This record gives sequence, structure tokens and C-alpha cells, in this order.
Amino acid sequence: MDDCGNYKNYLNEHGMKSTKQRNLLLSILAKIQTPQTAEKLYLQAIKSDSSINLSTVYRVLEKFTEKNITIRTSFLDDKSVYSLYPKTHQHQLICMRCKKIVLLEHCPLEDFEKSVEESTHFSVVNHRLELYGYCRQCQKIIAMG
Ligand SMILES: [Zn+2]
Ligand SMILES: [Zn+2]
Repeated sequence: MDDCGNYKNYLNEHGMKSTKQRNLLLSILAKIQTPQTAEKLYLQAIKSDSSINLSTVYRVLEKFTEKNITIRTSFLDDKSVYSLYPKTHQHQLICMRCKKIVLLEHCPLEDFEKSVEESTHFSVVNHRLELYGYCRQCQKIIAMG
């Protein structure tokens, strides 16, 4: 498949038209794997498409997030990182200082969901959980003052 047709069906399934820039950003997100800021994604994108600009990248990422193609994780200082919506269920552990993100594969909420369903008769289909804190290295740096 050529680069432009790659994600056409995927985008259509999510109610979006396939465009060159959307396809490009999807291919970058699929390759990078770890959550990235819009600026970093832009720096990757411009290597393949010199006509792309940062505001386009932001716009596409916002649209992707709205359509559940990507997840946006926001930090307290306003920086957001984007990653593809995980195909498998996972949670993020986020360092507030260095912005490192560790993916947790174990979900602690499965039993909780069941008990919520029983007590509320709500059919739970998904949840989001992010843990914020400081990684080991940052703890040391903070301790040194
Ligand atoms: Zn850290
Ligand atoms: Zn979970």
C-alpha cells in the first residue's frame, strides 16, 4: 500500500476523511510508540512533508483525540503528549518532573468495575486511570534540593 492509502479505512471507520497529513501523523504515531508532544511529532512530520506546520499538527491531533484515535495526556504545566489509543487496555504512570511515562499492563480496576456494575446496574464499558508522581531519578534530584 502507498503511504497515502495506508490509513484510509482506519480513518473512515473513525468518521474522518483520509488526508495526506492525517495519514502521515498516524504512521509516525504508530512507529514512535511512546507518547510525544505535538512539537516532537511535528519535527518528525516535517521530514516527510515540508509543507506541514505546527498548527496543522495540533489540529489533527485534537481531532484524533476527539475521535478516540489518540489519547492526550496533560501535564500540570500545560504540556500535552499524544499517543495512539491503546489496542490493549493499559494505564500510565507519569513523572511530573521529567515527563517520563511508564505503561502499566496490569489493570487494578477489573474487580472494582464488577462491583460498581452490581451496585449501580450500570454497564461499564471503559475507564481511564492515570497515576502521577515522581520517578526514581527525579526523587533523588528533588531530595538533593
Ligand atoms: Zn522523572
Ligand atoms: Zn484499567
